[in-house]
Amino acid sequence: MKPIEFYDTRTRRQRRFEPLEPGRVGIYSCGPTVYAEQHIGNLRSRLFSDLLKRFLLSEGFEVTHVINITDVGHLVSDADEGEDKMEAAARRAGRSALEIADHYTRLWREDAAAVNCLPPEHNPRASEHIREQIELAKKLEAKGYLYTIPDGVYFDTSRFPRYAELAGLDLAGQAEGARIGVTEGKRNPSDFAVWKFAEEGVRRLQEWDSPWGRGFPGWHLECSAMSVRYLGERIDIHTGGIDLAPVHHTNEVAQSECAFDVHPWVDFWMHNEFLNMGAEKMSKSTGNVTTLSDLVRRGIDPLAFRYFFLQAHYRQQQVFSEKAIQSAAKGLQRLQKIAAALEEATGEGDEALQAPFRARFRDALADDLNAPRAMAVVWDVARNDTLGEADRRDLLRRFEAVLGLKLGEAVVEDDGDRWETDPGIDGLLAERQAARAAKDWATADRIRDELVAMGIEIVDTPEGARWRRKGAG
Ligand code: AMP
Ligand code: ZN
Repeated sequence: MKPIEFYDTRTRRQRRFEPLEPGRVGIYSCGPTVYAEQHIGNLRSRLFSDLLKRFLLSEGFEVTHVINITDVGHLVSDADEGEDKMEAAARRAGRSALEIADHYTRLWREDAAAVNCLPPEHNPRASEHIREQIELAKKLEAKGYLYTIPDGVYFDTSRFPRYAELAGLDLAGQAEGARIGVTEGKRNPSDFAVWKFAEEGVRRLQEWDSPWGRGFPGWHLECSAMSVRYLGERIDIHTGGIDLAPVHHTNEVAQSECAFDVHPWVDFWMHNEFLNMGAEKMSKSTGNVTTLSDLVRRGIDPLAFRYFFLQAHYRQQQVFSEKAIQSAAKGLQRLQKIAAALEEATGEGDEALQAPFRARFRDALADDLNAPRAMAVVWDVARNDTLGEADRRDLLRRFEAVLGLKLGEAVVEDDGDRWETDPGIDGLLAERQAARAAKDWATADRIRDELVAMGIEIVDTPEGARWRRKGAG
């Protein structure tokens, strides 16, 4: 079996992956800033970390996945300037910051569930870890890394010699090109705030006392503080979009390596490339965004976006288009149909015949998560007419654990008389449909689980959801 290899942004090469502690992997993924609905570019980032987790689980590792929720301190500009995104959104909506955060956190979780992402083991909020953030800043202060200016408490990046390492930054060039208007008193253009003071006379919705004065933590501090709380002082894998490497992740490294005296703090930095709209990155600031709910409104199955995601390597830019998502939806449907039909196969498969297909699928993913190559193996199995049906069924079931395309729960043609009726079960099914229509995925899934526990199989047909008792098909 080939060793697992991932590409690491810091060392700029693909190398062998082995967890710091045998059998266990800790993953930290930078999560959403919950001031607006996430777009499908953000969702690509979420799907990438889910694919990584599913693959590691399929390799037998115990995985602890932490995704943070940024609900304070992320300013409009990366240069520690401008308004806090949460405060601005709350003011616009006439709501509290907490209400805004709750609302968009819920939407983000629903989107993730709709594309069948496994929930993270921990999903901590920045605003609920202020104490940890202050403790970390105090550690850095005691070691002499911080200085205070009228605007806040800053990290002196010139005191950390490896500052440029992760993203290969040109610090001399940065200093030369430093913009006018850089925060007054900053010693180096790359210095960043770990604590910002509340502006005098401005009443913020979220502010806290600290040893340095009333204010709020800088955005980068939360990830250093929450990762150590849930994963310890060193991390196996840290993920995020590639745009985060030069500032946010670089600053996380500075804080964590200086506070804990570790190097490398993160063993593998894995960054996903962008989802583009035409030639440009999909981004809230450009406004060229599509959300998952936009797709659903247009009648597209959320899982079609997952299928679309699997068609590109995570380190390639991927271009979104109507045509591409439609073709992904067709591909998904075809695959689901084949899988559903194979579920009817009887008899046992032959492990020996399946082994080479399993190895090809697994080796593709072990090679820096090459999903397109893995998908080619999936189709090779789905269309294969030399393998027996039971073998194809078994293989697709195994692949499904990593793919998450809900193969086997699929659309088949309604042939009229195979479906059953029963007032109790019909009622539950109707409730589930209503929950789905309202995008209340949690309720919909809960009802589905309840029905499954009763031995009921739900089948989505062109006429709507139907059911039958398992084994009665
Ligand atoms: P944000 O909510 O903008 O802080 O982003 C959350 C995550 O989504 C980060 O890891 C970003 O790097 C990532 N991200 C943002 N836009 C895109 C995009 N167009 N394609 C892929 N990932 C993105
Ligand atoms: Zn982060």
